[in-house]
Amino acid sequence: MSGVSAEPAAVQPGATHSDARMLAHEVIEFLIVHALHPSPINYAVAYEYRMGGDAALNARIDTHLAADKRLDDLLMRELYDEHLAIEQFRNLRGLGGSLQELVDGLIGDISEAGEHASGFHSTVENNISLLKRRNDSEAVTAIASDLLAATAKVHTSNATLKARLDSADQEARKLRDELERHRREALSDPLTGLLNRRGMEYHLDELAVSGAREPLSVVVLDIDHFKRINDTYGHAVGDVVIRHVAKVMRTAVCAEDVTVRFGGEEFVILMPRRSLEEAEALAESIRIKVERLRLIRRQDKLALDPFTVSLGVASRHDDEAFDGIFERADKALYAAKNSGRNRVLTELALD
Ligand code: GH3
Ligand code: MG
Ligand code: MG
Repeated sequence: MSGVSAEPAAVQPGATHSDARMLAHEVIEFLIVHALHPSPINYAVAYEYRMGGDAALNARIDTHLAADKRLDDLLMRELYDEHLAIEQFRNLRGLGGSLQELVDGLIGDISEAGEHASGFHSTVENNISLLKRRNDSEAVTAIASDLLAATAKVHTSNATLKARLDSADQEARKLRDELERHRREALSDPLTGLLNRRGMEYHLDELAVSGAREPLSVVVLDIDHFKRINDTYGHAVGDVVIRHVAKVMRTAVCAEDVTVRFGGEEFVILMPRRSLEEAEALAESIRIKVERLRLIRRQDKLALDPFTVSLGVASRHDDEAFDGIFERADKALYAAKNSGRNRVLTELALD
């Protein structure tokens, strides 16, 4: 081995070199045992699991393994999104805000300092005119002029400093906008432009922080027999179908609603302050619009077979957390699938 080694960055302070190497070995061993690729995401999740810092993450992996199920890239990605990525985005946002605060503070201090200096400058100037008018000694006038020159210098250097800080301020704003753009990209789904699952979690987090649990309805949508669409026309056409369903949803919802591509061909709409009936009506309008879509494959003008979606709807009971509402909406969706697809069922249809 060469003298240079790449140890994981987050090794505990005070840990020795060999502790760090051992930890890296254990994480890689874990990946090998579970036949996982040593990708950065898999490594990050396995590392977090080994460190045990997130009890919920460890519980999910343990339950999965206890049920004799295999860990795969998809699950690791999901765990990464749900347990590791959200935290990172929170930090990123904090970083942008505090950077701006820092620069705003500096600009404020310097402006104040500049004002003080120019106040001093005009006081001395007034005194010099007074001295001149009273025709006092030449020497006093000379001293005062020196003083004036000195304060003028302070004034100029403050102005230069302020100009520099103004440009630093612009840089900081640019940086903050850039961080914001990265954050937005990471929270949205590139195929449809809707929020992705991470974006939904983030949004729910914001709603939870912003105060009391208000009424909330949730619609869960899944494309019917989507596998068949892929098998018949190919994956690329499958992607186009996903985009069209997303577009129907986006144009049907109100400004306050949040539309999410939850997974492959599954979508979620969060409808703050909407009743179950209102959400059901929206779900039904989406179902009808999708059923009426007529898509034509560009390359050979082939008309695709019409396709349909099933939807489940639920609303907040009292002030329950999101998970409970989502679970009922999901159950209603599966009831809709089981009772023939191409339909909307609400939680009222559940036993
Ligand atoms: P059901 O009516 O019960 O929902 O049947 P289904 O065929 O729609 O459901 P199933 O879960 O069996 O299949 C979903 C398929 O969606 C499997 C997967 O290959 C495909 N899929 C997932 N993500 C994407 C994607 O991004 N693009 C495309 N084209 N296909 C995807
Ligand atoms: Mg599905
Ligand atoms: Mg489906």
